[in-house]
Amino acid sequence: MPDIEGHALQDLPLDELMACHECDLLMRREPVPLGHRSVCPRCGYELEIHRPHMVRRALALVLTALFLYIPANFLPIMHITILGQTSMDTVWSGVVGLYHSNMAGVAFLVFLCSMVIPLLKLLCQLFVLVSIRYKALREHGMLLLRGYQHLREWGMLEVYLMGILVSIVKLIGMAELHVSVGLACFVGLLLTQVWLEVTMSHHQVWGELCGEFDDASH
Ligand SMILES: [Zn+2]
Repeated sequence: MPDIEGHALQDLPLDELMACHECDLLMRREPVPLGHRSVCPRCGYELEIHRPHMVRRALALVLTALFLYIPANFLPIMHITILGQTSMDTVWSGVVGLYHSNMAGVAFLVFLCSMVIPLLKLLCQLFVLVSIRYKALREHGMLLLRGYQHLREWGMLEVYLMGILVSIVKLIGMAELHVSVGLACFVGLLLTQVWLEVTMSHHQVWGELCGEFDDASH
């Protein structure tokens, strides 16, 4: 393969080169046709994928996630009955409860990681997808996509869900527990976000924002 020999790669411009994220193999970047993907010839890692109708599918998922966001955070996750007293708990009431228990710092962190950042992430993704459709907005879309990549490290819905499941297991012998619609919405929100991450592959979104696929169908 002449393209992976040092002297041949040196002659290529930078935008025609790519490196595998897993094994660092440097190779010539080939355009990926719609509906196909490219994999690293050395380790098999998926390099790029070009999904048909990515923008439409991702928009539907972002709107679904935004629709689930309010019930997931403000509808009861579970009803707990201890000694004849019943209480309903939501994500928001958890934040307020921590604040009133003199744990303002923890309350702020939970509020940030389980409510503010997931919402900001969704709004960034929505704007990025809209900006792909409108060329005048693409520069702002690139800025927000960079911001989104930083926010990803701070959204911790998975950790919060794990906390809910652990509390359910711990409380099950001590109290009467009934899971509520809020938990279903919370799990739905989490799954939709994971699906969205898979659908919005970074290479494809950057390619769309740079106009590489302007002739292809969205
Ligand atoms: Zn590789």
